[in-house]
Amino acid sequence: MFDSKTDSFLEELLITPSPTGYETEGQKVWTRYVGGFADKVETDAYGSAIARLDTNADVMTVMLEAHCDEIGMVVQHITDEGFIYLNKLGGSDSTIARAKRVFIHSKKGRTLGVTGNTAIHLQDNKNGGGKEPAWKEIYVDIGVSSREDALKLVQIGDPVTYCEDLNKLNEEMITARALDNRIGGFVIAKALQQLKKNRKDLKVNVIALNSIQEEVGGFGARMMSFRHMPDAALVTDVTHATDTPGIDQREHGQVKLGKGPTVQHGGANHPKVVELVERVAGEKEIAIQHETTSIRTGTDTDSIFFQKTGIPCALLSVPIRYMHSPVETASINDVKKLIELMTQTVLALEPDQAFTVH
Ligand SMILES: [Zn+2]
Repeated sequence: MFDSKTDSFLEELLITPSPTGYETEGQKVWTRYVGGFADKVETDAYGSAIARLDTNADVMTVMLEAHCDEIGMVVQHITDEGFIYLNKLGGSDSTIARAKRVFIHSKKGRTLGVTGNTAIHLQDNKNGGGKEPAWKEIYVDIGVSSREDALKLVQIGDPVTYCEDLNKLNEEMITARALDNRIGGFVIAKALQQLKKNRKDLKVNVIALNSIQEEVGGFGARMMSFRHMPDAALVTDVTHATDTPGIDQREHGQVKLGKGPTVQHGGANHPKVVELVERVAGEKEIAIQHETTSIRTGTDTDSIFFQKTGIPCALLSVPIRYMHSPVETASINDVKKLIELMTQTVLALEPDQAFTVH
């Protein structure tokens, strides 16, 4: 897909669990990679990480942002028989949670389990399609027969993720568990690396921020943008590709996989930053798609734009199918184009660039 070093970074980033509130292992993968070229890498108390390229104290600072956490589940209760009941971390969908392989991540290592599914023969409705379960009905079987034995392997509060790794559907499309939003961390790391390579043309300071706990409220982005107060931010996350059956494009707009990253209009997206991104995309012939928001962006952009006196933002996203499921699917072409768009937009910034709307 990319060069071999980049491919193995992407793969490691995607297969390392980083459930919301438990992002440490995933962050280690990211900081190790950006540490190879950034001027400075720092983390804060809760584990959000930044990597910097420092040009000059007197010039403006732009932030590239992505969230590093993924949705998941957590061990909520263990029965006397050793079955493990779950709660969700972030917006995990209970209706797809049955009959899956999961890893429970504990201090002692990871334990494989399966989410139980009553056989179709034993269901009240013999045609299948039983009622959609709530999280309180989902349990994990780790092959033990008592609570005592289960507690030798796991404990209450251990995070849980699906087992899916990275797979290629073909040369163009990939599927993985946590594209939302490990792919964003990949994009900002690669954009920062490109900027380092083009340092002679870089006129501003750059901070790449990989934030914790977006999936439960955008908290890491809030802490770190308050701390660093950049002059502008390019935020990246995933967005819904709406090109699969059953999605009403009249309601959700038209976004296609493989047709380029999206630029969002409205809400926290500053019109002048959006305008700059569109201009750069036009000049560099990078295909983009458009989407809009009426109120919230539903991303870290909502946490960043109104810090203190305001940070002008634009949200640029990788379209994916099947968001918040273990088979999230993206186009590598869109990922490459977004890295290019972010890099070129930063290179287009002037040292004293200000974004104001009159
Ligand atoms: Zn996300």
